[in-house]
Amino acid sequence: MPDLEEQHPNAAGGGDFDVVVVGAGFAGMYMLHRLRGLGFSTRVLEAGNGVGGTWYWNRYPGARCDIESMQYSYQFSDELQQEWEWTERYAAQPEILRYANHVAERFDLRRDIEFDSRVRSAVYDDRSGRWTLETDSGRSGRRYSASYCVMATGCLSSPNNPRFPGMEHFEGPTYHTGQWPHEGVDFTGKRVAVIGTGSSAIQSIPIIAEQAAHLFVFQRTPNYAIPAHNAPLDPEYQRDFKARYPEFRARAKQMPTGVAFDYRDVSALEATPEERQEEYEKRWGRGGLAFLGGFKDLLFVKEANDTAAEFVRARIREKVQDPEVAELLCPTNIIGCKRLCVDIGYYETYNRPNVTLIDVSREPVEEITANGVRARGEEVAVDAIVLATGFDAMTGALLKIDIRGRGGLALAEKWNGGPRTYLGLCSAGFPNLFMITGPGSPSVLTNMIPSIEQHVDWIANCLAHLREEGFAEIEPTIEAEDAWVQHVNDVADLSLRSTCSSWYIGANVPGKPRVFMPYIGGFPAYVKKCEEVAAEGYAGFELAGARAAAE
Ligand code: NAP
Repeated sequence: MPDLEEQHPNAAGGGDFDVVVVGAGFAGMYMLHRLRGLGFSTRVLEAGNGVGGTWYWNRYPGARCDIESMQYSYQFSDELQQEWEWTERYAAQPEILRYANHVAERFDLRRDIEFDSRVRSAVYDDRSGRWTLETDSGRSGRRYSASYCVMATGCLSSPNNPRFPGMEHFEGPTYHTGQWPHEGVDFTGKRVAVIGTGSSAIQSIPIIAEQAAHLFVFQRTPNYAIPAHNAPLDPEYQRDFKARYPEFRARAKQMPTGVAFDYRDVSALEATPEERQEEYEKRWGRGGLAFLGGFKDLLFVKEANDTAAEFVRARIREKVQDPEVAELLCPTNIIGCKRLCVDIGYYETYNRPNVTLIDVSREPVEEITANGVRARGEEVAVDAIVLATGFDAMTGALLKIDIRGRGGLALAEKWNGGPRTYLGLCSAGFPNLFMITGPGSPSVLTNMIPSIEQHVDWIANCLAHLREEGFAEIEPTIEAEDAWVQHVNDVADLSLRSTCSSWYIGANVPGKPRVFMPYIGGFPAYVKKCEEVAAEGYAGFELAGARAAAE
C-alpha cells in the first residue's frame, strides 16, 4: 500500500496567485489554511512528494521530537488538538508525519499544494510589483506569479554535506540523516561509519548499533545529552492535559522557549551544592530539555553553567564502562551552548562490543576511500557511511533559491555578511516577501509549531490589513532593520550561547559568516514587539500602493 502522503491529487502547475508559499511543512500548511480563510488565492510549492517538511525528510532510525508531544502540535484548531491522540511522551518521526498528513486531510490542504516542485528562483519585478517564482518541476520548469511570496522553507532543511576528500570513490552507500531513504535502510551484518555526534547521531546511533556488525562513530565534538525517559502516554494524563489545554498553551506563551515546563527563577550560584545536586538529580530523573530550567543563570554565567555541565559529565562517567571512552564522550564546553540533546540509551551504546568511538577532534577525517574512512592515519573499512553532519541552518534553504528583490538585488549578496531582517519576517529591498521563523526570530530556540503559528497569524493579519487599507506593498525600512539586527546581536551577546562553534552562529558550515542567527530575547518579548509593530500600523515598514499614492 502506498504511503498516505503519496495519495494526493496534485494541484496543477503554474499560474497567477495572490500568494505563493514555498514549503509544505508545518509552516506552509498553516499559512495555506489561514490565507484560504481570508480568501487569498494561494499556491504552495513543495520540493518533496508529501507534506511534513522536516518530518518528511528526516526519516533516519530513531528520529523523534525533543519537545513533548502534547506541546509539539498545532493549537489553532481546538477540535484538532482534542481529536488527535499522541501515543508517546516524545513522538517519533512516523507519528509526527502521520499527524501532518492528518492535518492536510482534515483541512483539505493538498488541492492547493504542488508537490515535487523545488523552487529555484523568486524574482521581484519593480514595475509590476509582483514576484515570479520558477520551479524545477515539469520538463522545463514552471512559472508562478504572485503579489506576495511567503518562504516557509524551514530552519533545518538544507543538509550540510561536508566534502571529505575522496568521497566519490567510496564503493558503498552514503546516507545523510536529513535525506534518509523512504524505504529505510537495513544495516544488519554491515560495518557502518557514523560521522557526527549531534542530535541526529545521538538518536540514530543506538538503533544502528543494534543492527550493525560493527559501528564506528567519528566524533569531532562530544555533546551533552539528557535522558528522554520516553514512555507510552498515559491516557489519563492525555485526557487531563487536553481538558486543560488553554491553561498549558497560555503558560507556554509566557516562557522564553514557548514550552510550558518547570522553570525556576533561582540562581545556581546562590544555591548550596546540595540544593544544586538535588535539583539536577530531580530534572535528570524527569528527563528532557527542561534540565536547563533548574536555575536562571545557567545560560548566562559560566560558573553557574559549570555546575550543570559537571553534573552531566559525572552521569556520563557512570554510564560508560571504559574510562577512556567516557572521557572522550564528556563535553568540556558550555552545556546548552550547542543545542542540548535528548537521548534514549546513547551513552550506554558505547558499552557494546560492536561500537568504536574514534576521536577526530584534533585531526579531521582525512579522506573517504573506496573501502571506508581514513582518520588518524588509519583506514577503517566500512560497508556504509552515515553523515549525521547537520544542516546549513536558518539561511541555507533560503539562499539555495535565487531570490532577487528591488533592482535585481540578490538576497545572497545582501546577506553575504550574515542575515539581515526586520523581526525575522522581512528584509529591506525585498517587498512583499515574508519568511516564517526566519533568522532574527526566536524560531529554533523555541517550540517550533507555536512559533510558526505566531508568524503565520502575523503575516495573515498583515496581508488582510494591507487589502483592507488599500495598500499593495510592504517593506521594512533599512533603519528599522538595522535597529533590529543590532538588538538581536546585543541580546545574543548577553548569553553564553553565542560563545561556541554551533550551527546557531553558522560555525558548522565552512565559509559561512559567523552571526548568531536566532533571536534569543525570548518568545514573550518577541511576540510583544510583533504585536506593537502591527498595532502601530506596521511601524518600521513602508506601506505603498494605491492608497499611499492617493494620500
Ligand atoms: P548538528 O547538531 O549540527 O550535528 C552535526 C554533527 O556533525 C556535529 O557533531 C558536528 O561536529 C559533526 N560534523 C559536521 N561536520 C563535520 C566534519 N566535517 N567532520 C566531522 N564531524 C562533522 O546536526 P544534527 O544532529 O542533525 O542536529 C541539528 C539540529 O536539528 C539539532 O541541534 C536540533 O535542533 C535539530 N534536531 C532535533 C532533533 C530532535 O528533536 N530530537 C533531532 C535531530 C535534530 P561539531 O560539533 O564539531 O561541528
